[in-house]
Amino acid sequence: MPFRSDHDDAGFSTLAIHSGYNPQDEHGALTPPLHMTSTFTASSSHELGARFEGVSPGHFYSRISNPTLDLLERRIAALEGAEAGLATASGMGAISATLWTLLTPGDEIITDKTLYGCTFAFLRDGLARFGITVTHVDLTDAHALEKAITGKTKVVYFETPANPNMRIVDIAATCEVAHAHDAIIVVDNTYATPYLTRPIALGADIVVHSATKYLGGHGDLIAGLVVGKSDILQEIRLIGVKDMTGSVMAPMTAMLVMRGLKTLALRMERHCTSAEVIAQFLLAHDAVSAVHYPGSPSFPGRAIAERQMKRGGGMIAFELKGGIEAGHRLINNLTLIQCAVSLGDAETLIQHPATMTHSTYTQEERAAHGISDGLVRISVGLEDVDDLQKDLERALNAQAG
Ligand SMILES: *Cc1c(COP(=O)(O)O)cnc(C)c1O
Repeated sequence: MPFRSDHDDAGFSTLAIHSGYNPQDEHGALTPPLHMTSTFTASSSHELGARFEGVSPGHFYSRISNPTLDLLERRIAALEGAEAGLATASGMGAISATLWTLLTPGDEIITDKTLYGCTFAFLRDGLARFGITVTHVDLTDAHALEKAITGKTKVVYFETPANPNMRIVDIAATCEVAHAHDAIIVVDNTYATPYLTRPIALGADIVVHSATKYLGGHGDLIAGLVVGKSDILQEIRLIGVKDMTGSVMAPMTAMLVMRGLKTLALRMERHCTSAEVIAQFLLAHDAVSAVHYPGSPSFPGRAIAERQMKRGGGMIAFELKGGIEAGHRLINNLTLIQCAVSLGDAETLIQHPATMTHSTYTQEERAAHGISDGLVRISVGLEDVDDLQKDLERALNAQAG
């Protein structure tokens, strides 16, 4: 039986495993073939010209499209509830190709105060330096956007939960304000994944991902994805990726991301369950002064998180009473949990944003953007949660003594 990807009632995991592929089209191969080819031949000169012109379907060069990437693009679109998808070489490739396509000098982009470090640097160095006005607004305050938005605002961009301090932005409310001013909403859904949050259904126009994280899920690749309406995605493909960034995903990477997607729902459930346990443990520990986790009852963004997230996710930020020196000691005393940036892997990873992922901000910028120097970020992995808790407990108690 071929799987009909237009099955209206197919669930998330069914789509993640089957959508867009019929084995009978490929000799019955259960796993889709890997098309490792740079170029595509045509039966005639006219035919190849027609593909370039876009009047004949079909691939012609893998910087523009490739059948293996095409399947991944359909799958992520199905999971996000979007019309179309686009694969890129990295999350930063997805973000830069998207924003360089949408914006021209003189336009304004409004973003939240907190952004992933390299996204913040891209706005400052890759957009502001080329004549685009970059305005950082506290998007957790619904009225702040209404006050800041103008006729020049072309794009409103944010992460939720935000990397690294877990701030939650109300997607539906933000989209309503932005759309009233004809701005395009771009959401970085890396932290939540479509399993927990589907921004398109809440009004977002474009969703970008670092597929390096939960979507790939195994710490063995760098990849990015974009989803949205077909016409905008085609522009990002032909301008942002083909001409401006050349940020093309390799077919082998697409294959590995599709392997990751098959277990995304299972992995996210486990990440969430373990993170709930770890967040509770940290909250109760004497050495800890604050825990930022959307699944905690005391979390300030809790009400919005409950509306737009299925569960709290696998990321936790926290602060120690002893400040950043205590944070470094904690990280150095861990034996199972690894000191590394990135997130969403099977392995639990811990890092210090101010000197690592967010060192692209100056100290003054971090202070103005709500990223405290004492913050420690943990990506709760798939190990047995008792072992994770024991590792943290031993390391926290070691520094008390
Ligand atoms: C990692 C990350 C990115 C950048 O993705 P890369 O795949 O490393 O280029 C963008 N946004 C968020 C929220 C991230 O965590």
